[in-house]
Amino acid sequence: WSSETVAVVTGANKGIGLEIVRQLAKEGVTVVLTARDANRGKDALAYLKGQGLNNVNFHPLDVGSDESIKRLTEWLRTTYEGIDILINNAGIGGKGVSLENAKLVLGTNYFAVKNVTKSLLPILRDTPNGARVIVVASRTGQFKAMENKEYLKPLLDREHITEAMVDSFADKYMEEVGNGTWKERGWPDWSKWGYPSPMQTYSVSKMCVIAYVSALHNSSSSFLDHDQHHCQHHYQHHHQQQQHHHLLVGQPERKQEINVFSCCPGYVATDMNNYRGNKTLEEGADTPVWLALHSPQGGSGKFWYERKVIEF
Ligand code: NDP
Repeated sequence: WSSETVAVVTGANKGIGLEIVRQLAKEGVTVVLTARDANRGKDALAYLKGQGLNNVNFHPLDVGSDESIKRLTEWLRTTYEGIDILINNAGIGGKGVSLENAKLVLGTNYFAVKNVTKSLLPILRDTPNGARVIVVASRTGQFKAMENKEYLKPLLDREHITEAMVDSFADKYMEEVGNGTWKERGWPDWSKWGYPSPMQTYSVSKMCVIAYVSALHNSSSSFLDHDQHHCQHHYQHHHQQQQHHHLLVGQPERKQEINVFSCCPGYVATDMNNYRGNKTLEEGADTPVWLALHSPQGGSGKFWYERKVIEF
């Protein structure tokens, strides 16, 4: 990989995010390590530079702050003129089940992923085989944990799902956590399987982000279809007008392709689970890094685990 390829990783001062940065940098990609705390971010940068990885840069990013997202976007635009890869890795586990916790966990693991992605979409470059957006989700967000199939229906229709549908799913969850009806309404209840309470909201946040990846794929591919159709039409019309002048008409302008993937790193030993995970950081970073570098054809909009699509 050439150092002209630029990747941005969120929540990268430790854990899986830091390991994603390390693996991408080893491949020769220029990587922007971001972290909400500048000191923790700079320490992580120094650690990588100590390993001889000089193609890593640091910029602060708190994914929960619009101002911070804006500053990063502007800095990327002026420093690199665009990026090729975005890895949304930052995430939190949360505590218990309360409206406050739901706002924080959905805010970080779902709404912030959307905000960061939307802000950076305009600066994604026309990378060969498409620019890539990767979301580190989790198999706990697999829809089967959800008992209320009625609420789930729009999310299961992956080809027609829209961002607005995912938003109303998230809002409904917050409403029913707020009024105490979440259990009887059939939101995931992981306590039945002996999991600690933070898992309830965490799993819903990951469901949302997995569904959002499909929604983003749908909206960018329909935009592309429309745009290509429009350009083709425009091109033909223009071409007919100019034909008898024997003028060369250039290629119609094309919107770039964007591939968007969600994935699970596996159960990885990190701070998030007090190092109970059974996978190493190297193993956990493998699938997100592989998706970023390979952008598998036909895999956009889907959920990946161990380099394979998981259907659910
Ligand atoms: P860690 O707790 O080690 O790392 C989480 C990272 O996210 C930290 O760098 C943290 O920063 C950052 N972060 C949290 N909130 C924000 C914010 N508002 N702005 C910027 N950064 C933020 O956990 P992991 O490495 O395990 O988790 C990485 C991702 O992998 C998460 O999305 C997680 O849900 C997912 N995942 C992890 C699994 C596992 O078994 N470990 C399993 C499945 C998914 P700070 O240090 O400042 O808190």
